[in-house]
Amino acid sequence: MDEETAGTGLATSRYTFRIPLADGYAVFNTSTGSVLRMQGEDADELTALLSGPRTVLPPAALGAKLAAQLRRTGFLVEPGSDELVAVRERYWKARGNAPVALLVTTTMDCNLGCYYCYESRSGEALDVNDVEGLVAIARDRLLRRGKRSLHIDWYGGEPLMNLAFMEQASAALQEFCASEGVAYHASVVSNGTRWPGDLAEFVLRHRIRQVQISFDGLRAHHDRRRRYRPGYRGPEDTSSFDQALRLVDGLLQHTRVDIRYNADHANAGDLPGFIGLASRRGWFDAPHRCVLTVAKLSAYSDRSAFMRPHELTPDEFEELQELAERLLPKEAQDDQDIVRGFPHPKTSVCGALAPDSAVIGADGLEYRCGLQVGEAHRAVGRLPVRRNLPLLNAGPSPSPGEGEGAWWDTFDPTTLPTCSRCSFLPVCWGGCPKRHLDGSRTDIDNEGRYWRVNLPHQVASGFGERAPEGFAFSAADQFRD
Ligand code: SF4
Ligand code: SF4
Repeated sequence: MDEETAGTGLATSRYTFRIPLADGYAVFNTSTGSVLRMQGEDADELTALLSGPRTVLPPAALGAKLAAQLRRTGFLVEPGSDELVAVRERYWKARGNAPVALLVTTTMDCNLGCYYCYESRSGEALDVNDVEGLVAIARDRLLRRGKRSLHIDWYGGEPLMNLAFMEQASAALQEFCASEGVAYHASVVSNGTRWPGDLAEFVLRHRIRQVQISFDGLRAHHDRRRRYRPGYRGPEDTSSFDQALRLVDGLLQHTRVDIRYNADHANAGDLPGFIGLASRRGWFDAPHRCVLTVAKLSAYSDRSAFMRPHELTPDEFEELQELAERLLPKEAQDDQDIVRGFPHPKTSVCGALAPDSAVIGADGLEYRCGLQVGEAHRAVGRLPVRRNLPLLNAGPSPSPGEGEGAWWDTFDPTTLPTCSRCSFLPVCWGGCPKRHLDGSRTDIDNEGRYWRVNLPHQVASGFGERAPEGFAFSAADQFRD
């Protein structure tokens, strides 16, 4: 121990977990991301101490070298320090530093009629009169904190059903960014059936660096679920599955593609076949990266409550995710929370919490989360030019959801009664904030369950091992007051 701590001793961190390995234990600190493997006769006792209830160790309880190492890596802390404060500071720093991203719903219209779709598929669409307002919002958000990069996520409905707006808005936004010396890039969330033929030129023209395409299983399931809506079917529309496959083949020559595999009870069994098909088509060896994520079809909002009976249980969904992990090559897996093989404390927030980001609905209203688009009572502002109003929230008839704007601005999981006591907090940050806004207690509880089951496996996997069969952290590990 160094001079500074020799007289006072050190306390164990509230964020340390221990995982049994084939030989010895791993300890992982969710707040610092530090991980250590301990073997030998003292390993059991020491790792139990480090991961147990907060304990102040008397000076010289550990050898000086070990104590210094455990302090440096955050397993031991100053007895008077409040570790929650450090998590809170990191959270607010991440919010302030979040990049400027605008999710732009070009239209609520879509040519496909997916049974689980929660969107209203109204005819609402942004038009040429909205371009100026969109640029005004981009300018406002960039100027607020002097940020130098703008990301646009084209969203819908099916965003390419309103190509005319996308073309004009994309050109105007790029022109504005070029004039200000601001970096510009874009992404698209699409069903993959309405893309122009010249993909190389299109990707280049719109500075698209990532496209998300959703699949609902293999052809039979996908085509049945993603069927063409009456009046939208053209002569080339024989299979939405084949169209999306061909599009991914082409896109991967020019940009990254994220495949979202939407799973429920009926199509979960298609996953191995789908991964095999993707592999045979060369998606995982393409010039650009292809990442496949399994998503659980769920009731995202009140409008999709009918989805509940189709949802996979948490156990079923975790099994499916594990299967994907086993079958997919490493580079095809989503690794944003894994650093050098181990899980990592969060350092970024979702767009809904980013103060300089916005979701623009096809109705001209501004929302915080993409899953709220079309729920006008949740809007927090509106496009300024279309209604000839000054910038956000200053119109004569305020949106009913403006009160929610303050909720989003102040949401802080480190102050919530449950999350503030939770040792997963630094890697979770309360999960999806919309669930807290909606009071979805079951979904929030499932977040804790996810970490209790999965964190041990993620840490063991960093050592190239598997946690013992059935091993999971307990509620007492998660909450230690
Ligand atoms: S609030 Fe939830 S659903 Fe909305 S953007 Fe954030 S994480 Fe996603
Ligand atoms: S696991 Fe649950 S209690 Fe813990 S931070 Fe996440 S949402 Fe909050």
